Order: sequence, then C-alpha cells, then structure tokens
Amino acid sequence: MSRVLAGNPAEFAAPAVVTLAPYVPGKPIEELEREYGIRGSIKLASNENPLGPGLRALEAIAAAAGDIGLYPDGSGFALKRALAAKHDWPMDGITLGNGSNDVLVMIAEAFLTQQSEAVFSQYGFAVYPIAVQASGATARVAPARPPDAPMALGHDLDAMAGLVGERTRVVFIANPNNPTGTWLEAAALERFIGSVPPSTLVVIDEAYIEYAQDEAFPDASRWLAAYPHLVVTRTFSKAYGLAGLRIGYALSHPAVAGMLNRVRQAFNVNSLALAAARAALEDGEHLARSVAVNRSGMKQVCAGFKALGVRHIPSVGNFVLIDCGRPAQAVYESMLRQGVIVRPVGNYQLPNHLRITIGTQPQNERMLAALQQALH
Ligand SMILES: *Cc1c(COP(=O)(O)O)cnc(C)c1O
Repeated sequence: MSRVLAGNPAEFAAPAVVTLAPYVPGKPIEELEREYGIRGSIKLASNENPLGPGLRALEAIAAAAGDIGLYPDGSGFALKRALAAKHDWPMDGITLGNGSNDVLVMIAEAFLTQQSEAVFSQYGFAVYPIAVQASGATARVAPARPPDAPMALGHDLDAMAGLVGERTRVVFIANPNNPTGTWLEAAALERFIGSVPPSTLVVIDEAYIEYAQDEAFPDASRWLAAYPHLVVTRTFSKAYGLAGLRIGYALSHPAVAGMLNRVRQAFNVNSLALAAARAALEDGEHLARSVAVNRSGMKQVCAGFKALGVRHIPSVGNFVLIDCGRPAQAVYESMLRQGVIVRPVGNYQLPNHLRITIGTQPQNERMLAALQQALH
C-alpha cells in the first residue's frame, strides 16, 4: 500500500462504531487447511446443519440459477405467502432478511436511537450488543443465571425486567440462546412479554426452535396476535441447512413490519435464497432427518463429555457449551491441529468454555477423540 492515509478514521467515524468489537465468526475450513497445511478437516464451529441443504432446496437453486441476471423479487412474495400459511400470520407482518442477522440489525436501525436503550442478557447472542452499539443506543445487560444454578448462564427474566425502563425500545431474547443452549419456559416467557410496556419491542429470536422438540417448548409466534409489541425471528441457516445463502425472517405486527421495511435494503434477499427457502419449507423429510441426527448426536456427545469428565450445559439447540476447567484457547488450538474446528467463546467473556456444534455420528466421534487428545 503506497497511499498514505490522510486522516485517522478512528477520529472521524461514529464514536459508537470506533469502540465496537467486531463479530468473530467460526474459522472456515479453507483457512485452517491453508494455515496448518492439513486436509480433511471438519467444522463444528458455526452451528451449521451437518447434513447440509436438502435435495429439494438444491433443485430449486438449480432451477432458479438461470434467472440471476434479474433482480430478485424485492417483496419476496412467494416465500412470504408460504410463510404466512405456515405461521397463520398475514404476509404484511413478515419481513425477510439476509439471514436473521439482517432482521435483527433492521430492528435496531428502525427502533433505536442515541437517546434510547436496549436490554439483553449477559451471554445473549453476540449480534445483539453489536447491533445495539452500532445504532448509538445504550445497551443494558442483565446478569445471567449463575453457573451453578439450573439453566446455568441462561437468561434471567427477572433481571431483564428490572432493566426495562422508559427509554427501553427493544428487548432481545434468544430462545434457546446461543452460545449457552439454555431456554425459557412458556409461562415465564409469556408473562415477561405481557409485563413489558407496549412501546417496547420484545424480540424472541428462535433460530434453533426446530431442534427444541419438547412439546412444551414455547413457539412465540403463537402469541403474536395477543402482543403487538412482540417480534419473532427465524432463520433458514440452522436446521434448514441454508447458512451460506443468508435468509431469515421476522414475524411481527404489520405496523412493526412497516417500520422495518423502511430501513430494509431494496433487494436484501437474493433470488436463489428465496427459491431454496420456499423448497426447504416443503421438505419436511429433510428437516425431520436433520432434527433426528441432532438428537442422537446430542446424546452421543454428552455421553462422550461425561466419559471425559468434561462439564457441559444442557442444550436444546444443535450445539453444546463445555467448560474445559482451564483456558480453552490451548484446547481449541490442539483440536485445530487435529483438523477439528470448534468455537472459543472468549468474546462472551467465557475464556474456559468452548461451543461445539453437533455433527454427524463420525464427526462427533472424531471431535471427542480430538478433545480427549487435547485435554491429555
Ligand atoms: C445463527 C443465529 C442467528 C442468525 O443467523 P442467520 O444466519 O443470520 O440467520 C440468529 N440468532 C441466533 C441466536 C443464532 O445463533
């Protein structure tokens, strides 16, 4: 680089942006193999579906590929119609996003200002603090449940309610939460939503709900009609296996969706994603297989952790948080050298923990062997 930077961007960028800690993604397989000169690695670091997409989604992508010279349908009509039927909710109460991350950022852009506040939990999903800080609003972070309590490190709804005030415009809740895998029960969650004033949005992020198989697990979309300040976000990145396409959505009162639509980029969801998501919704078999693989994989890895004497937090997602009982960075690096990518969570101030995605049976076996090696 021969050009001299005339000014220092840190001196003239938005102050809230300068002090922002960027999102740290899971290490890509290509990067690991380039850096370590190894082959045949596996990635259990970003909660992707180890089965990948279903055949029907792949076929839909192939069929739509010829049209990528055209802009996508910016209104996402066909997908919204399918989602409206799935959720029994009006199309104008659905906002599509480039991943649900996009929708979370739209919520912050549309509802937060430098004068307002947003509430979320310690160890809540990493996108919440980033979206809130970038908006210039003040983050109010509720302490999580203690590490030795049931639902360790999970959201404490009473603590969150205590932080909701006159300036609170948004509360972010992940159910189940990433990276902890913890969850909230229906009665307590609905009570919380009802207790929040109608001029404060409650966002329930259900990125992993397809994996939470318990009959009693709350599907917050059922409460939309009762609570106009409720927003429910979903994604095709996890159980539907479409992480690379980037598509998710929000369900909300149409008036809330109208605000999100004002800040939404004109063509924020690409045409292949629209086609694949629609096909994925119709592929109940692939979804069921994905959930079944996760269920047996979860049993396998939890039994493996127990055999290794490694503590984990019970999870209803497709990932588990383990406590290495020592700084996890060396464990992570040893596993990397063995070609197994997992996720350190130092960015969550959990330096002794690793978050591990449930893989296929052989991937889980390999992960457990690498963990054992790393610990001994
Ligand atoms: C992965 C994840 C998302 C969103 O992912 P997208 O790929 O942007 O849809 C949202 N919330 C939580 C809690 C997640 O773990």
